[in-house]
Amino acid sequence: MIRSTLLKLSENRGFAGWVTSNGTTRRMARRFVAGETLDEAIAAARVCNDGGMLVSLDYLGENVATITDAQHSRDAYLEVFERIAQEKLHANVSCKLTQLGLDINNEFCEGLVLSIVERALGFDNFLRVDMEGSIYTQRTIDLVKRVRSRNPAVGTVIQSYLYRSETDISDLLAYGCRIRLCKGAYKESEEVAFPQKADVDANYIRLMQMLLSSGFYHGIATHDPRMIAATIRHAAAKQISKDDFEFQMLYGVRTDLQRRLVRDGYRVRIYIPFGNDWFPYFMRRLAERPANVAFLVRNFFRK
Ligand SMILES: Cc1cc2nc3c(=O)[nH]c(=O)nc-3n(C[C@H](O)[C@H](O)[C@H](O)COP(=O)(O)OP(=O)(O)OC[C@H]3O[C@@H](n4cnc5c(N)ncnc54)[C@H](O)[C@@H]3O)c2cc1C
Repeated sequence: MIRSTLLKLSENRGFAGWVTSNGTTRRMARRFVAGETLDEAIAAARVCNDGGMLVSLDYLGENVATITDAQHSRDAYLEVFERIAQEKLHANVSCKLTQLGLDINNEFCEGLVLSIVERALGFDNFLRVDMEGSIYTQRTIDLVKRVRSRNPAVGTVIQSYLYRSETDISDLLAYGCRIRLCKGAYKESEEVAFPQKADVDANYIRLMQMLLSSGFYHGIATHDPRMIAATIRHAAAKQISKDDFEFQMLYGVRTDLQRRLVRDGYRVRIYIPFGNDWFPYFMRRLAERPANVAFLVRNFFRK
């Protein structure tokens, strides 16, 4: 109930205006967002690398409405790859297709993604295409497959809350695609997604086993100790090396667990978002942890 209210509010402009201009909520957001500038993200990435963690940098933004905005996002991503190389960081990059014009035109978006992936390959690096709401799933998979058939430096994300995900994984593995597995962060109907958390978790474990046994290098993205324990058990039982997959977690979430996994010799990548357009990302993080939000809502209705 709270989760779905927060996800609905993440599309509300009035609420966005209040959250992004309010000092308290801006400070709250800094727990999950490294800053508004690339320099701040680079500094956060350096701290993670120094702590033995890999990084994925995400320039925040989604659902752009103009070609100019999409091209601006493309340019920002090209710069991120340049800076990663200059700074010799152990980092790749994550992006969203709706930030690169998917709502405007598929071919246009694909052209921008290709140019970013070419830059990635030039630096021997990698672009991860995040997965957004289910209305974009098929188009995202199709676009990633087309780009990947021309350039291998791209992968995508699969969400265990969707019924279709097992089929999508088989499809993507046939292209040798690297996959990040997560539970899924958007508001979805019972027609497309498991309504019960227990089913999402059970599917997560099934899909994780499929990925780890595939022979390709994948990302297991979760902060759930039960999902992590199941992954560690499966890897040990199947003699899959700790170097053949990575755990992925979000900046600011379960840093204790991040450090513990590094100490235990696992590869851990931290997803570091930065930029001005942090409101929807922040709301999804609150929706995952409604315990944090009571006071946010109280302040909003008091304003
Ligand atoms: C690296 C990475 C990339 C992701 N990319 C995508 C994507 O492309 N598309 C997409 O739909 N989703 C993405 N997600 C989000 C994901 O789908 C989940 O919404 C999110 O990870 C929470 O699920 P969980 O596996 O941590 O398990 P949960 O069962 O939700 O949480 C397990 C435990 O983790 C902690 N926790 C989880 N979230 C938070 C939080 N926000 N604040 C504080 N504690 C928290 C709590 O202790 C909680 O009990 C990504 C997540 C990660 C880690």
